[in-house]
Amino acid sequence: MYDIEKVREDFPILKRVVNGKPLAYLDNAATSQKPRKVLDALTGYYEQHNANVKRGVHRLSEEATAAYEEAREKVARFLGAPDARGLIFTRGTTESINLVAYAWGRKLLREGDEVVLTETEHHSNLVPWQLAAQVTGAKLRFIPIREDGTLDMDEAERLIGPRTKLVGCVHASNVLATVNQVERLAEMAHEAGALMLVDGAQSAPHLPVDVGRLGCDFFAASGHKMLGPTGVGVLWGRPEVLEEMDPFLGGGEMIREVHLDHSTWNDIPYKFEAGTMNVAQAVGLGAASDYLEELGMQNVREHEKRIGEYAYHRLSEVEDITIYGPEENRTGVVSFTLPDIHPHDLAQLLDEDGIAIRSGHHCCQPLMRRLGVPATARASFYLYNTEEEVDRLVEAVEKAREFFGAFAS
Ligand code: PMP
Repeated sequence: MYDIEKVREDFPILKRVVNGKPLAYLDNAATSQKPRKVLDALTGYYEQHNANVKRGVHRLSEEATAAYEEAREKVARFLGAPDARGLIFTRGTTESINLVAYAWGRKLLREGDEVVLTETEHHSNLVPWQLAAQVTGAKLRFIPIREDGTLDMDEAERLIGPRTKLVGCVHASNVLATVNQVERLAEMAHEAGALMLVDGAQSAPHLPVDVGRLGCDFFAASGHKMLGPTGVGVLWGRPEVLEEMDPFLGGGEMIREVHLDHSTWNDIPYKFEAGTMNVAQAVGLGAASDYLEELGMQNVREHEKRIGEYAYHRLSEVEDITIYGPEENRTGVVSFTLPDIHPHDLAQLLDEDGIAIRSGHHCCQPLMRRLGVPATARASFYLYNTEEEVDRLVEAVEKAREFFGAFAS
C-alpha cells in the first residue's frame, strides 16, 4: 500500500507556504524535490568523509572513494546495469549525450552516415548531434509523430537502414508524456548494425528501467530529476562500446600514463571521468536510488499513472483546453494550452495560489513547431503529488480562464 502522507513527510520542502498557500509543486519534469535521506547523505558526506577521491591513501580519501564507488554500484543496480564499469558519472543528461556525440560520434561517424532521432527530442538530444554532424558530414534524420503524439513506427522502419549508425530517442517525452517504444527501436537499430541511445531523463525517475531489457547501448539520466542533487547524472554505456570510444575530457584521473607528447587512457569508466568529480552529489544520487528502490519503482509508476490520469481527465473537462500527447500509456506530465491565455501568464497566475507549473517551449522548439504553438503550460507530477493538488490546479486554471476571458470578450 502506497502511503502518500508518509512519503510527503520525507520531503521537508513540501511544507513550504507560497503566497500564503501550501506549496503545490507540479514542476517535477524540470527538477524534483529531495527527500531527507538524500539531504542527510550530502551533509553526512561533508561532515564525516569529505576528501578528494582516488588520489589519497589517508583514511578520509579511502572513505570518500568507497562512498563514491558504492554510489556507482547503487545507480548501476537501479538501472539494471549488469556491470558498474559501464556507469559513468556526468553532470546530467545533457553532458551524458554530449559525451556520446563527442567521444563516439566524432570518432566514428563519417560522411554519408546517418543518425536517426525523433521530432520530439529535447534540445539536449538534438544539438549535440547537429554539432557532431557539422564536423563529420553525417546526416540527421527524424522519425515523425502521429497526431496523437506517438512515434510513427512505420516511418521509423523506413528511416532506419544500412546508413544508420545511431538511433537516439527520448524514452518518455517531457512535453507529450508519451512512453516511446525504445525496445522496438533498439531492435531496429541493431538489425541495421547501428547503436541505440535512450534519453532517460524523464523515465529513470518515473518508470522501472532495466537497460538490459531495453536493449540499448547508451542510457542517459539526470540525478536532479530523480530525487538526487543537481550537478550529477549518469551515462550508462555497453562496456564494449565504451572501450572503443575516445575520451571526452582530458585531465587528471582519466589517464594511465602521461608523457609530454602523448598519453594513454585509464580503464572505463574512469577514462570518462576527468578531474575531480561531483563526489558528494554522486553519493546523494546513490541515496536517491536507494530511496526509490525502497518505495519500489512499480509503486511509483502506479501512483503517478493514477495521478496523471486523474489530472488528464479533470483538465480535459476545462472548456476549450487542448491537451497534448496520447490518451493512454502516459507519464505524469500534462501539457496544455488555452485560447487567449499565454502559458506564461497562466503560470504566473497559478503561482499566486502557490501552484508551481512550467510554461514555455520546454527545450523542445522543433516539437512546439510541429504542434503549432509557441509554448505550452505543463504540470508534471511525481511520487509525492496528491489528487487534492490536481483539484487545486484545475480550480486555478478555471479561475484563470474566467479572469482572462473577461479581457478577451
Ligand atoms: N532530456 C529530457 C527529456 C529532459 O526532460 C531534460 C530536462 N528537461 C533533459 C534531457 C536535460 O536534462 P539536464 O538539464 O538535467 O541535463
